[in-house]
Amino acid sequence: MPPSQKRHRHIVALIVQKYGGTSMGSPERIRNVAQRVAKYKAQGHQVVVVVSAMSGETNRLIALAKEIQKNPDPRELDVVISTGEQVTIGLLCMALKDIGLQAKSYTGGQVRILTDDAHTKARILSIDEQNIRADLDNGSVIVVAGFQGVDEHGNITTLGRGGSDTTGVAIAAALRADECQIYTDVDGVYTTDPRVVPEARRLKTITFEEMLEMASLGSKVLQIRSVEFAGKYKVKLRVLSSFTDEGEGTLITFEEENKMEKAIISGIAFNRDEAKITVLGVPDKPGIAYQILGPVSDANIDVDMIIQNVGVDGTTDFSFTVHRNEFAKTMDILKNKVQPHIGARDVVGDNKAAKVSVVGVGMRSHVGIASQMFRTLAEEGINIQMISTSEIKISVVIDEKYLELAVRVLHKAFDLDQETA
Ligand code: ADP
Ligand code: ASP
Ligand code: MG
Repeated sequence: MPPSQKRHRHIVALIVQKYGGTSMGSPERIRNVAQRVAKYKAQGHQVVVVVSAMSGETNRLIALAKEIQKNPDPRELDVVISTGEQVTIGLLCMALKDIGLQAKSYTGGQVRILTDDAHTKARILSIDEQNIRADLDNGSVIVVAGFQGVDEHGNITTLGRGGSDTTGVAIAAALRADECQIYTDVDGVYTTDPRVVPEARRLKTITFEEMLEMASLGSKVLQIRSVEFAGKYKVKLRVLSSFTDEGEGTLITFEEENKMEKAIISGIAFNRDEAKITVLGVPDKPGIAYQILGPVSDANIDVDMIIQNVGVDGTTDFSFTVHRNEFAKTMDILKNKVQPHIGARDVVGDNKAAKVSVVGVGMRSHVGIASQMFRTLAEEGINIQMISTSEIKISVVIDEKYLELAVRVLHKAFDLDQETA
């Protein structure tokens, strides 16, 4: 159908669909994605698709880079790892054209997804949606490369692992889309990772706050920044399976509707990529936390949990966790810059730590969740190394080897395998 005819059709909605790596994993799957897009187009919707690289491709490219340079130059690493998505936008457009749709691919730079210059974990600053909008109005399906942008000098940047989710939601926000659909290899957000606990159940809805906690605590079904974007711009966000046509997936909601019927705990998140570092025998005086963590933050390393013990005899111990990938770098900063400077006794580290968290807005109105969590872990002989809480979550750091056991017993202890009444 020529575009002129299409323009007269009633446009029902503007939908952004994001397809992850598994969903784009083979020519056949790419054709399936094209079919789904065609279905929405046939209903009269405007569709913008954001895609990831084919599954395994980003890992392959990172490994390749590391074969050439042990610590790859960040700018060049982004040049390399952004290519996976350049391949899939082209392939999906071909598949769309093959079934008679108009389609046009855009790299992040072509859209102009402007980011800061923090290579490999850049943040989106703004999106110029003018060109996309014009092509949409001409009847085309727009296919945008996820995970990538450009900084103000035109350097290619990437948004951190799982960053295509963030591209999807950010594009939806910029276009004020009616809905952003995240298609993945599970049919929604579950009470915990269904690969670890087969009894996990799909949640029909999850509040934005809970999703933010789940994502930040390690549930990689959505990248944390995508949830932040959804919250900031009130994007209607839904997680769905790209492998079935049935099911409503999981809707991220902004009100605590049906709070009465909701379980106290909505889910369990975990993260096995933690590393714990302790600075021993630190002089117990003002400014010490800053002197320890300042240089770490200057190196753009995110610090997660922090614990400072009560001082004894004028000294104290200071522990915190970082992503395991940043363990060596952090240890180096502490041993060579911080320790001599502040006169600490020693710096020790353990890169086999893991974090388990229970999350739920119901915690606000219920007591005893922490004690139930600690008792459950104690009964399995699992030692808790660090604890941190907020209004709607409790996290503990434990030895990595007990992670899956901890997740399973907690899932059961909080009755997450049962339908809520
Ligand atoms: P994609 O390639 O589509 O972006 P991801 O692998 O990034 O997919 O995210 C989907 C995966 O997230 C699932 O396969 C599942 O193993 C994992 N996951 C972790 N926690 C959850 C959860 N609470 N609910 C659903 N999936 C989860
Ligand atoms: N391809 C990127 C990754 O593997 C981005 C994404 O899949 O969201 O991290
Ligand atoms: Mg992902």
